[in-house]
Amino acid sequence: MMERNGAAPASVIGRFAPSPTGPLHIGSLVAAVGSWLMAKCAGGQWLLRIDDLDRPRCRQEFEDDILRTLERFGLCWDGPITRQSDNSAAYAAAFERLQELGAVYPCSCSRAEIARSASAPHPGEEIPYPGSCRNGLAVGREPRAWRLRTENVQIVFDDLRHGRIVTALDRSGDFVVKRAEGFFAYQLAVVVDDHLTGVNQVVRGDDLLDSTPRQVWLHQLLGWPLPAYCHLPLVIGPDGAKLSKRDNTVSLADGSVAGKESELLVWAFCYLGLAVPMELIGTDCHELLAWAASAFRPDQIPQIPASSLSASVYSSKLMVPSGSHFLTR
Ligand SMILES: [Zn+2]
Repeated sequence: MMERNGAAPASVIGRFAPSPTGPLHIGSLVAAVGSWLMAKCAGGQWLLRIDDLDRPRCRQEFEDDILRTLERFGLCWDGPITRQSDNSAAYAAAFERLQELGAVYPCSCSRAEIARSASAPHPGEEIPYPGSCRNGLAVGREPRAWRLRTENVQIVFDDLRHGRIVTALDRSGDFVVKRAEGFFAYQLAVVVDDHLTGVNQVVRGDDLLDSTPRQVWLHQLLGWPLPAYCHLPLVIGPDGAKLSKRDNTVSLADGSVAGKESELLVWAFCYLGLAVPMELIGTDCHELLAWAASAFRPDQIPQIPASSLSASVYSSKLMVPSGSHFLTR
């Protein structure tokens, strides 16, 4: 484990943390390239963690495919690969600390009960937990999950692209840190993982921005320093929705973009505000990455909303949105 000491300025330790529930797609490529650039432009390290907490959905073949894809793109990680499935003891220790702090409580509610008791949010929004078990379980009820208290918690953090974010945590309600099946929840796991590996820079897609206030609260409760955050614009599919691992048109699985890696890398740089000079077009991934690590400037990541950016990417005919995943340039 890397020790942190507050005195010396910490060198940047970033990470990429894919889940082996499917092959990488061009959206995950942007997250991988973005986190790599952010770490490498500062002379830092880029760690690779396999987020395999959701065991039933994870498959070894997907993990193998993800590693091969990163290698084909020349995205080399520093140090050993870590896996959430190896970290249960650390999650348990953090959970015990939260119990000692009185920050968590057992909850007996089923999903259906929460849905019935909560006011209906906007479509697609998470149903906020109404706090039914916050003051103790009702007589005769058995504990299922453990939830973290969020009453009156105000969270403030800075994101490189979004600026200062101030939010009341109880909007989403007390959230689960240990699930009914006995597994620790994603929010707790990533905070423990990042802390244990010394990660001090979290760069990932905008789809995780909603999770960040909860993770900030966990860092604060556990007394751990906050990483720097940067949430990248999401790549939106031709239908206007977030890309899915089930969507084969954007998959980077073995063979699906063979020979197109450097072109896709140029596209990902462009997406992150980095225009590749003409003389570098056609060079290999390693050469492109070496150039990009020195040329990339985090403040040039586009601020414009992901939807309009994606629309312009798709309409520029860089990419055929359906039928083929090959670049047309
Ligand atoms: Zn409950």
